[in-house]
Amino acid sequence: MTNVDKYAVLGNPVEHSQSPTIHLQFAKQTQQHIDYEKICVPQDDFTNTVKRLVADGYRGFNITLPFKQQAYQLVDQLTQRAKHAKAVNTIKVLDDKTLLGDNTDGVGLITDLQQHHITLNQKNVLLLGASGAARGILYPLLQQSPALIHIANRSPDKANRLAKEFSAFGTVSSSDLSSIPSQTFDVILNATSASVEGQVPAIANSLIGAESVCYDLYYQQGLTSFLRWCQQQGAKTLIDGHGMLIQQAAESFYVWRGVKVS
Ligand code: NDP
Repeated sequence: MTNVDKYAVLGNPVEHSQSPTIHLQFAKQTQQHIDYEKICVPQDDFTNTVKRLVADGYRGFNITLPFKQQAYQLVDQLTQRAKHAKAVNTIKVLDDKTLLGDNTDGVGLITDLQQHHITLNQKNVLLLGASGAARGILYPLLQQSPALIHIANRSPDKANRLAKEFSAFGTVSSSDLSSIPSQTFDVILNATSASVEGQVPAIANSLIGAESVCYDLYYQQGLTSFLRWCQQQGAKTLIDGHGMLIQQAAESFYVWRGVKVS
């Protein structure tokens, strides 16, 4: 009988997660024998649930809201990128049953940009938002050697803290949304959750030019509210986060299985 390795996405809520479909498709493509399910974890029972699933023989997990920080605290070892993100979206159960925590969101974004033939080397990047998603992608973004990254957030203190923390890795500045240095940015990344509510971060339209790459980490059927607004300002390159979702999953699959999905 063929052994089937068990994986799961852990979150609350989790019913809308596309992870099982994506990973089972990867497994089919690469002929890996895995099972993958979604598990809704009680808000106050994350640690016990993970321990129980590990004892049951699960080999790895994707972690989604609201447990990424708890997963960061729980694991025995962290990859460098998870240390910078201070959040874990991928857990690998090692052979001795200890847990390796990783964060694949940043590499997912970079790979998706590359697939769209967008490079960040010496580019001026505007990063909107300073919460979990922004933190998770900052170090991988800086590793691409942009000329600068300006972080702008509705609550400027959070942006200032992030800029200070990551300034050792490149040129990083920060402000609130209304004080962004006046220039046209090459790449504008929306890592706020404004699009979830159909809103747009209140930034000046002069920051966007026809050649600006506008990327919303959020995704939906059709253009997000942010991308629609960017289009109205004349931007031609509009990308949503669906590709990032697929690519971060591909990286998790690689962490678990050692197999690249093409
Ligand atoms: P959070 O809810 O933690 O982020 C909130 C951030 O958005 C804060 O910076 C907040 O500012 C800002 N914000 C919220 N509403 C507005 C608004 N109306 N105007 C301006 N700023 C606003 O979410 P995450 O950091 O976890 O995720 C951010 C986005 O990234 C989400 O849309 C999520 O779906 C997406 N994402 C996509 C992934 C993918 O694979 N494609 C992976 C991870 C995330 P303030 O601090 O002032 O409150």
